[in-house]
Amino acid sequence: MSSAPTARPVRGTHDLVGEELRRHRAVAETGRAIALRWGYQEIATPIFEHTEVFARSLGDVSDIVTKEMYTFTDRGGESITLRPENTAGVCRAVISLGLHQQLPQKFFYYGPMFRYERPQKGRLRQFHQIGIECIGAPEPLADAEAIAAGAHILEELGVLEATTLELNTLGDLDSRARYREALVAYLRGREAKLSADSRLRLERNPLRILDSKDEGDRAIVAEAPLLLDFLNETSRAFYARVKEALDRLAIAYVENPRLVRGLDYYTHTAFEFTTTRLGAQGAVLAGGRYDGLVATLGGPDVPGVGWAAGVERLSLLLAEAPPPPRPLAIVPIGEAAEAEAWVLARDLRRLGHAVELAFEGRPGKRMKRADRLGARLALFLGEDELARGVVKLRALDSGREEEVARTALAERLASLVGVENPAASARA
Ligand code: ATP
Ligand code: MG
Repeated sequence: MSSAPTARPVRGTHDLVGEELRRHRAVAETGRAIALRWGYQEIATPIFEHTEVFARSLGDVSDIVTKEMYTFTDRGGESITLRPENTAGVCRAVISLGLHQQLPQKFFYYGPMFRYERPQKGRLRQFHQIGIECIGAPEPLADAEAIAAGAHILEELGVLEATTLELNTLGDLDSRARYREALVAYLRGREAKLSADSRLRLERNPLRILDSKDEGDRAIVAEAPLLLDFLNETSRAFYARVKEALDRLAIAYVENPRLVRGLDYYTHTAFEFTTTRLGAQGAVLAGGRYDGLVATLGGPDVPGVGWAAGVERLSLLLAEAPPPPRPLAIVPIGEAAEAEAWVLARDLRRLGHAVELAFEGRPGKRMKRADRLGARLALFLGEDELARGVVKLRALDSGREEEVARTALAERLASLVGVENPAASARA
């Protein structure tokens, strides 16, 4: 590469601008708006935490902790990590702020996450997630609600059809423990054929092996005993109630008994909305119940359930980018009009309109720019209009023109531009 390092973004990072940024915003804002409707309040935690927060919560044999974290020592000698995900941060905040005094707490978040991975389409080193966490609700309805809110967001974005909801249960700790024994016994017999990573996991976190992307591991896992066969009555009942609640809302799912969230504190529900449209980056929204997490971080024994979705992956699935707002273009003719146009632009912006007013230029040049920006209306202001206290409006799609008194302008624009500038109609 010939360009100077300062002119290149860091590998796996990405500048967002124009259409791509509008897609991104649509995902984040739709997520926020729908989550609010379901009662999830927004929370914003710092993008870095003490390394310990992630090391403890994600487990020290997870891929994220062993290979993907951006960890550094700050000038005060503390080990700091850029957040690879936000669940740990939200739980840490709940403890720090004492929010567990009043449960349940329901949160939505949006923001950048950082993982040192091999960049590909839909896989970045700085990427973004939206997510929700419901902390302090032990009921299966909380799992179903989290899934339903996620499905609603995907539906609103028009991508639900492109995904499949895969569902599984990991059971409670008792079921997990019995399964773990059977799984380890099975894997021990095949230890030599496991990948090096998985041999390590066999000691510390055998369930994670079910999640391995290694081909050899996958073949072994395909024949492994199923957790489903080790569920006790409580776990079966819990799972049945989650499915019942989803059925009631007609949310379609496919049961996948091999779907796992490999971390020790995960219990009961695990789910993923997957797509076949993004190659190997198939998971767009993934989550589950994490009843042990808050306690793992040193807080009280408080249950939780939630999910995170990749904003870049969802953006890639969006059929079309939302269009940019179509501004009103003011075209002054003559020096006196130019000065007045400056004030008029400010007034219209205050009313909620997007207004384009070039710093200089002949009317022809200004009109070209207005066209390029997709302006909806041109507002001509010449000596004559100025003297008579009117503005000439031209609808740029139809070419239709009309003259409007300055005193009636706000009202006329509100009716012409309608819902495009909702703030304006709200004020009118
Ligand atoms: P994958 O199996 O694709 O690596 P993951 O299991 O690491 O995903 P989670 O930790 O569950 O993913 O994160 C939730 C969501 O965040 C994923 O489903 C995906 O949409 C998104 N995501 C995860 N890592 C990245 C990344 N490096 N770049 C872009 N999006 C990502
Ligand atoms: Mg990953």
